[in-house]
Amino acid sequence: MEYSRIRGTGVSPGIAIGEIFLKERVIFTTRKELISKNQITGELERLREAFERTGAQLFSLKEEIREKIGDEHAFIFDAHLMILKDKSLSPSMKNIIQDEGCRAEWAISQVHEKYAKLFDSIEDDYFRQRQSDVSDVLSKIYLNLKPTEKVEKDDHKEKILVAHDLLPSEAATSLSQGNILAVALEMGGPTSHTAILARSLNIPAVMGLRNITKKVKIGDCLIVDGSDGEVIINPPLAIRKEFSSKKNKYEDYRRELKKTAKLEPKTLDGVSFFLLANIELPEEVATAFSMGAEGIGLFRSEFIYLQRSSLPSEEDHFRIYSRIAKKAHPFPVYIRTIDVGGDKNLPQLKIEKEHNPALGLRAIRFSLWDRDLFKIQLRAILRASTLRNVRILIPMITEIEELAELKILYNEVKDDLRSKKIAFDPHVPLGAMIEVPAAAAIADLLVKEVDYLSIGTNDLIQYYLAVDRSNEFVSYLYKPFHPSILRVIKFVIETAQKEGKEITVCGEMAADPLSAIVLLGFGLKRFSMNPIFIPRIKNTLRSVEYKYVQEIVQNAMTLKTAQEVEEYIIEKTLVKHPKALLMGQMK
Ligand code: PEP
Ligand code: MG
Repeated sequence: MEYSRIRGTGVSPGIAIGEIFLKERVIFTTRKELISKNQITGELERLREAFERTGAQLFSLKEEIREKIGDEHAFIFDAHLMILKDKSLSPSMKNIIQDEGCRAEWAISQVHEKYAKLFDSIEDDYFRQRQSDVSDVLSKIYLNLKPTEKVEKDDHKEKILVAHDLLPSEAATSLSQGNILAVALEMGGPTSHTAILARSLNIPAVMGLRNITKKVKIGDCLIVDGSDGEVIINPPLAIRKEFSSKKNKYEDYRRELKKTAKLEPKTLDGVSFFLLANIELPEEVATAFSMGAEGIGLFRSEFIYLQRSSLPSEEDHFRIYSRIAKKAHPFPVYIRTIDVGGDKNLPQLKIEKEHNPALGLRAIRFSLWDRDLFKIQLRAILRASTLRNVRILIPMITEIEELAELKILYNEVKDDLRSKKIAFDPHVPLGAMIEVPAAAAIADLLVKEVDYLSIGTNDLIQYYLAVDRSNEFVSYLYKPFHPSILRVIKFVIETAQKEGKEITVCGEMAADPLSAIVLLGFGLKRFSMNPIFIPRIKNTLRSVEYKYVQEIVQNAMTLKTAQEVEEYIIEKTLVKHPKALLMGQMK
């Protein structure tokens, strides 16, 4: 058995060791089997029965998935039932059987090919997604032509699923069975449906593994390291042992996390703090709450655009926002209006190539430039606000005039909704992100114009220190503890608090234990981060005394360099609260 290692993208953390289960695709026939005229009626009946069986299966799968893993994954089957009932699907197959005098298998394969070509020519991500759904339904009908063959249940025991790709319903059915140890796929990435599902079911997964289906054989042993994005085929004993112990450590860590998620968010001396989640997809809401989030502190709405190449309609926006608001209710949801430009290029918006995109037409600047698009988004957010837990967050504010301009648009949208008697919450809080140094410097003026502030430390550090946040050559200069950064953050937090306004930090600093201690020391009580880091920050902040942290952070402000600050905070924390920095490193 040959030993080898393949690197991919880790999309769901954790480690699994086990035997492989190779999931083969349904291969549609390429052979046209002819039948005689008097067999045609029987063949049409065979097809009808296959449709009927598929419908029944989809319906019971929907119920099963709803029970096992919740509504948010069961909706796929509604879409599949709609495809099955599509007016043209069954007739187009029947016509082929009748006109060409052939088996139903050939008719399905022809229809499959026709759809594949059609979707390919459209070249649209959104439709491509529909293509995989259509393919999924056609595969089921195809398999149901031979009813004795088992279609749905993967009765393999405790194995690692290896496949080229998983269709949405395959992912939901396979992963919910409870016997898949891990997933290793050639296709897919962190935002694919399978990845989200794997994360929410806590199944390690690696994707983007080139040719893995060709490199493995039935009976091979595999290690899937979802944290590091690696798959090891037929590992020697020493490597197995190494990963076994890594796996145990990770599982201990997860158990600790789970316990922590349920604990009260209070420091040792009883000061409450709030941990919220940054999300990019509606499907992440459930994970966020299971990690102990008390709201969605940042929904990066530009991801609605990143997942498709056409423009989303108001209804598309509305559906997504209301889904999140409903799932999070009664907790708050901060919907950030699109933050395009900079490192996030959205081809469907046709933004001209800029020499310096980080300083260009991005975020609120873009929204004020394409006002029709902005109004569509504002309308959709307001329509989704009827549960009264929605907040609007504006990215990259630089000056007061931008707020004034957007308020005019915002009021126009509200007036329009009122005139059409469309319900919305008239008091949706409006907040500004503090990411541009100029905005931080006038935080005392800005804060009077909004209901709350949220500090985006990722961009604030980039612009304050003039260090590209994604350029590895200058990453050594990207220092959250640079005294200038500490001063500016302290100023913004204290300014908002003086004004009695809510203040949150939603950049990566909130997710780092040491930085969280510093932020708490500045008086910050609201931290928003990637859901996976919520338990560890809760652990950190629960393990410290607010008073003590305030004291050490105040002392740290007299230090001259980031390194001195870091060493001082570590040293002082370890002396009094060593538990605060435990659980720090593992992902
Ligand atoms: C930030 O800049 O800190 C932030 C939260 O926004 P993003 O990372 O999406 O730019
Ligand atoms: Mg930002």
